[in-house]
Amino acid sequence: MSFSTLGLSNEIIRAVTEQGYTKPTPIQMQAIPAVLLGKDLLAGAQTGTGKTASFALPLLHRLSESSHNDHSEGCVPIRALILTPTRELAAQVQESVYQYGKYSNLKSMAMFGGVGIGPQKRRLRNGVDIVVATPGRLLDHVQQGTINLSNIEYLVLDEADRMLDMGFIRDIRRILKLLPKQRQNLLFFATFSDEIKALAAGLLNHPTMIEVARRNVTADTVTQKVYQVDGNKKRQLLAHLIKQDKWYQVLVFTRTKHGADRLVEQLGEDRIQALAIHGNKSQSARTFALTKFKSGTLQVLVATDIAARGLDISELPYVVNFDLPNVPSDYVHRIGRTGRAGAKGEAISLVCAEESKLLADIETLIATKLPRETIIGFSSNSQTKPEQIPDKRKQLKQGSQRTTSAGAKSSLKSSKKSSTQTKGTKKPGTRTSR
Ligand code: AMP
Repeated sequence: MSFSTLGLSNEIIRAVTEQGYTKPTPIQMQAIPAVLLGKDLLAGAQTGTGKTASFALPLLHRLSESSHNDHSEGCVPIRALILTPTRELAAQVQESVYQYGKYSNLKSMAMFGGVGIGPQKRRLRNGVDIVVATPGRLLDHVQQGTINLSNIEYLVLDEADRMLDMGFIRDIRRILKLLPKQRQNLLFFATFSDEIKALAAGLLNHPTMIEVARRNVTADTVTQKVYQVDGNKKRQLLAHLIKQDKWYQVLVFTRTKHGADRLVEQLGEDRIQALAIHGNKSQSARTFALTKFKSGTLQVLVATDIAARGLDISELPYVVNFDLPNVPSDYVHRIGRTGRAGAKGEAISLVCAEESKLLADIETLIATKLPRETIIGFSSNSQTKPEQIPDKRKQLKQGSQRTTSAGAKSSLKSSKKSSTQTKGTKKPGTRTSR
């Protein structure tokens, strides 16, 4: 099957061909015809499956078919709204929309917080057809009367499950009230839940349902491994692995913003170049770190879950869970940063005894027992307490992305110390597998 058999216009086919796409991915094969027919969509797709093009291409096609040719000031109503959970994802999706639509005369813009609102207002005044926004900044524009949503014909909720996890449900409800009733709705999620079911029930009208991968499974192209490590030796083990195995382009996840900053500092002491990306960093610092990392000039990017969701970094070879996430489905999203679009990747988790319950929950979710390895010298009995595990859901319910606090109290009690640790009788750095 080719893009032309799906019924897309020559302008769009030309643009995707220039992107190097030769044939549609499974989600594209299913979603594109449904969207072209005007159907609502409920689509479950693993990250890296080509889901952005699966909604962007048919939207561009439909919008072009009934394009308002006059793009002079004030003459263009906003006709499509794409909501994403994070600023980086909004920027990435808008870039894709721009690339796929470069032979159309449609205009798009990204709209997110952390940067000046002035240029966004000017852009709106000049007229745009498609807005890709995070909910908070979109509502800022609504409040200031700088955006008119009464002509929206298409609404996309990208990574809807994440938006709900991040506490955006009230913002989303407020936005929905501002949209015309008659419109086409496309809802994308990575992990299905009762909350998604409820949102879909209230939003979608006889939707086409698509699911291209089994729920909660990880990409086959990712090799997963667990290193059992003493809590206070994680940093040394990470530095050891990076140096010994000459890892480059490593995305490391930590549980907290503070933990991310501290790890960057410590890696610096080990002469490993690293930058952090999280909610307390300025948008310019986030953009700088991500651009450097994407272009291959930064060895290690340390991120919290909020900052990294949905990012597409081509052929990212390594993802490391420095801490395990306390929401098991986040594990799937984290390691989905590697092995994207068929490329091979490695996902490594550094797991201390206190995280054994989190590991067990993850293994239950993905229905896979992850292979364990121990490196002698990095896994011995330690009395050191690990960093407290905050209850992320509680934090997120307290506010949106902009108000998330890092200091919530742990709801998880440390589990008993495992008795499976390897005694350090061999030379440090020797691997043993389980
Ligand atoms: P997404 O899941 O939308 O983040 O896309 C993941 C990656 O797949 C991106 O780098 C896209 O450029 C790429 N991609 C999307 N569709 C195709 C396709 N039909 N053929 C090859 N690569 C694609």
